[in-house]
Amino acid sequence: MDYLKERELIVAYGKQLITEKLTTGTGGNLSAYLPEAHAMLISPSGIPYFETRPEDIVLMDLQGNILEGNRKPSSEYDLHSIFYRNRPEVRSVVHTHSEYATTFACLQQPIEPLHYIIGSVGEKVRCCEYKTFGTRELAEEAFHFIHEDKGILLGNHGVLTIGSDLASAFSVAKDIEFLAKLDYRARCIGTPKLLNQAQMKEVLAKFDTYGQQ
Ligand code: 13P
Ligand code: ZN
Repeated sequence: MDYLKERELIVAYGKQLITEKLTTGTGGNLSAYLPEAHAMLISPSGIPYFETRPEDIVLMDLQGNILEGNRKPSSEYDLHSIFYRNRPEVRSVVHTHSEYATTFACLQQPIEPLHYIIGSVGEKVRCCEYKTFGTRELAEEAFHFIHEDKGILLGNHGVLTIGSDLASAFSVAKDIEFLAKLDYRARCIGTPKLLNQAQMKEVLAKFDTYGQQ
């Protein structure tokens, strides 16, 4: 079995989706792009994250064919592969059903810039239209909607994030849930005072060089 380390990473982050409360049950899915193979590794469909083993991770080409694996791949393989086919800088895609963010997704309401951490995602966390899960229509809607952002809400469904590796796509999914929780709570006790365009421009520029580059 090839790509053991990459498979183990997907298994480990899958467990973190549960422990970090970013999804429940078998909701959500994760993948990693393998540029040298023009292929991706993706979590299997409907297997609880704590029961998923490295050999359950499915190796697929970017046209939807299974290259290696005995499991049915995530029903959202189109939602992942569309990014790897068209945006080679994207090396990982994470999809969650985290509760607060999904609450906003059910309202089809964006998360507004009420805290500077939103700069890790974009100017706001926008929400695309509802499309049926596991369809090419959902993949195309999300792909064309995301533009320069690192993550979006999927209408009446959940969260989608992209990154240069699994750690960064996962971290954006965590940030989105943090922001959704803040927005929800702030609206419970008042009206959040939003950062203005100039403040957000400054924040976005600082995020370009944030952390250990
Ligand atoms: P899978 O178990 O097929 O990955 O589906 C979960 C999901 O979140 C569908 O949108
Ligand atoms: Zn989903």
